[in-house]
Amino acid sequence: MPNEIEMHGEFDLIARYFTRATPKADLGVGDDAALVRVAPHCQLVVSVDASVVGTHFYADCPPAWIGWKALAVNVSDMAAMGAMPKWITLALALPEQNSHWLAGFAQGFFDCATQFDIDLIGGDTTRGPLNITVQIMGEVPTGQALLRSGAQVGDDIWVSGMLGSAALGLAHIQKKLIVPDVILADCLKALHQPQPRLAIGMGLRGMAHSCIDISDGLIADLGHILKASDVGAEIDLEKVPCLSMVKQSLHSPLFQQAILSGGDDYELCFTVPKHKRAEIEVLSQRCGVPLTCIGEVTSGAGLLLTYQNQPLSFAGKGFDHFG
Ligand code: ADP
Ligand code: MG
Repeated sequence: MPNEIEMHGEFDLIARYFTRATPKADLGVGDDAALVRVAPHCQLVVSVDASVVGTHFYADCPPAWIGWKALAVNVSDMAAMGAMPKWITLALALPEQNSHWLAGFAQGFFDCATQFDIDLIGGDTTRGPLNITVQIMGEVPTGQALLRSGAQVGDDIWVSGMLGSAALGLAHIQKKLIVPDVILADCLKALHQPQPRLAIGMGLRGMAHSCIDISDGLIADLGHILKASDVGAEIDLEKVPCLSMVKQSLHSPLFQQAILSGGDDYELCFTVPKHKRAEIEVLSQRCGVPLTCIGEVTSGAGLLLTYQNQPLSFAGKGFDHFG
């Protein structure tokens, strides 16, 4: 193909940066396609996410962070399905061969792959504006995937970790606000190195009625569960877990926006019948990840958000590429 990085360089590049042992595959990088086997009584779970320069990251962002996040956002989709990721493919468009950039990118990417025990089994490498597309494949026992569509009236609504930190980090970089020094490192880490909640997602099999990962903001993503499940919800802003400094200034519309619609959180939002509260606490302890109940699924239409026992009208709708 004319725009593939010149033959010699392309194969060197793949061999050098993207060829590792692939114990989870029958055949990995190097042939026309890879070969994998899905365990008996499991379904193949497949998802793909593109990371585009200027939209998902800045060109001058350290390449290791770009590599980590390009994979982490895909792992988060597996977590949201209650699936165990096993294989990834990587389609890379690069403006030039820059070995410093590639080495950094590969390091961040494989740090994440190693942490979650996933094999890179193939991909495609072309010249073009920087674009990183990762396809992820995993397994879930047949019938046990966590869907958006299973929420039931009376379920508790839970979220993992803390919300809003990544949005504050991004707002700081964009000079829309100045994040205080004491929380800046936490906010930037949340933005650049999100921690997919894989153990939580798999632990929720057979427990949660519905689940989604929060990539576009709590309101937007919980909204997807409500729509798919044809239910409503009531959530209390003061219960939404966030940095204590943010909690102390919850009246600030900027902070409200960060935790409700900032996006880039990569935490899980899920619904569970009330009688399973103790099991959720055990899962939280086992995984070392805080899980917080923020409200309840209702038979009403849409989402009722309350703050200090009053309904809160909220304009921000979450991130929408075409909104
Ligand atoms: P084809 O011409 O058949 O598409 P390619 O020349 O694109 O094959 O790729 C050769 C091999 O290298 C294939 O096994 C492919 O999956 C793998 N590959 C290409 N780019 C990457 C990449 N960025 N990461 C991992 N594997 C890659
Ligand atoms: Mg190819």
